[in-house]
Amino acid sequence: MQNRTTNGANGKYDVAVAGGGPAGAALATFLQRRGHRCIVLEARQFPRYHIGESLIPNTYGVLDRLGLLPKLRRSDYPVKYSVRFVSPSGEESQPFYFFETIEGERSQTWQVERGSFDEMCLENARESGVEVRQNHPVEKVVFDNGRAVGVVARDADGQAVEIGARVVVDASGRTSLIGRQLGLTSRVPGLDKAAIWSYFRGGKRLEGIDEGETTVFMLPRRGWFWYIPLPDDVVSVGIVADPDYLFDESPDFNAVFPREVARCAPLSARLAPAQQIAPIRGLRRLAYRNVRVAGDGWLMVGDAAAFLDPIYSSGLFLALAGAELAAECVHDALAADECSEARLGAYSGRLFAGVEVIRRLIHAFYNPQFSFREFVDRFPEQKPALIDCLVGDVIDRDMSGLLDCLAKVTPPPPPL
Ligand SMILES: Cc1cc2nc3c(=O)[nH]c(=O)nc-3n(C[C@H](O)[C@H](O)[C@H](O)COP(=O)(O)OP(=O)(O)OC[C@H]3O[C@@H](n4cnc5c(N)ncnc54)[C@H](O)[C@@H]3O)c2cc1C
Repeated sequence: MQNRTTNGANGKYDVAVAGGGPAGAALATFLQRRGHRCIVLEARQFPRYHIGESLIPNTYGVLDRLGLLPKLRRSDYPVKYSVRFVSPSGEESQPFYFFETIEGERSQTWQVERGSFDEMCLENARESGVEVRQNHPVEKVVFDNGRAVGVVARDADGQAVEIGARVVVDASGRTSLIGRQLGLTSRVPGLDKAAIWSYFRGGKRLEGIDEGETTVFMLPRRGWFWYIPLPDDVVSVGIVADPDYLFDESPDFNAVFPREVARCAPLSARLAPAQQIAPIRGLRRLAYRNVRVAGDGWLMVGDAAAFLDPIYSSGLFLALAGAELAAECVHDALAADECSEARLGAYSGRLFAGVEVIRRLIHAFYNPQFSFREFVDRFPEQKPALIDCLVGDVIDRDMSGLLDCLAKVTPPPPPL
């Protein structure tokens, strides 16, 4: 069967984005506002379920530039002022309040239900003039002499449609469309964690400004549970740990998750009055990366490029901030009429220098010999830099002092 071809008014679209999650929606919004003709092809019909609900404060700037803050302020998403750690024996750390280091509204953020949040981001793209097609899975990127020139998608009737574009953006999340097509996806050395999660209604909540906090329940073997309050008295609860430990008795998420909740006494106490209201879901391998994130006529943003670990809740920040940086490069490349790998990938150095700092902190967190409290006692001058990292302020920052001190107490991870 011949493909139907859809093109923009003057031949091609400037930008075709595969995936309408936060990264794809944000990138298309920024580029359309700069006068480029963008189309987003999303496989699903929104609102659709997605994991990953907790924002970090440094997301504020990009949410502001996207124009989303008024909608977030009007939403029923719990406001997150802090994070707290609870030891396996139930000993609670002091909450870490973001307003201790950040002034004004920027110090607060939100716990977002992703069905509605992602729809808000995609609707914002549409309101900015982006053409959005849902129920349009992209099947492959079309290359001509090694250069991406468009995509083939399935329309809602199941017909193949070829869409030409000067730049193709892979924002397909963990599908990593181009990564799989070109065989670029690989493991992250030294990082092998799995996650299992579900949702409960009626779990105990803290009071006052602590009501919306993320609580991290530590497990004896360096695994941990997240406890993230959401609207309608719902709480997102999930475990992250070594697969060897999690699946030692059974590979079944439905057997392992309740076993682990029962083993974590402080978490079980919070959930005692609650009802589980959703299926148990999981991922056996969380971390991956692509060995290239751009090429002639294409680039990747958000989870399509890489995902490391949920411990610092940095995924949505990196997706949105990365999309903004990438949009700047796409704009420059389109303006210069030179959509080369060098121009389209120019954003990645700035972004991945920040990601590398987060990777170092992830490895420190999972090292049983490492303690953040002892680190700060030994290197008190590094505390502000450490806090900056934990709220997401890692892009265009020189963190070499922090990383040098970290290397004195915990070995750096294998190089990528
Ligand atoms: C267990 C776990 C917990 C997490 N917790 C957090 C957290 O607390 N805070 C946080 O910030 N982040 C968290 N994350 C990470 C966060 O969910 C992601 O970083 C974020 O969703 C990335 O956004 P994205 O737009 O890149 O991808 P996605 O949100 O995955 O969007 C990709 C979109 O592409 C679509 N798509 C896929 N394939 C195709 C195709 N072929 N054609 C067209 N469309 C396609 C999908 O339907 C989807 O809508 C967590 C992740 C995991 C795995």
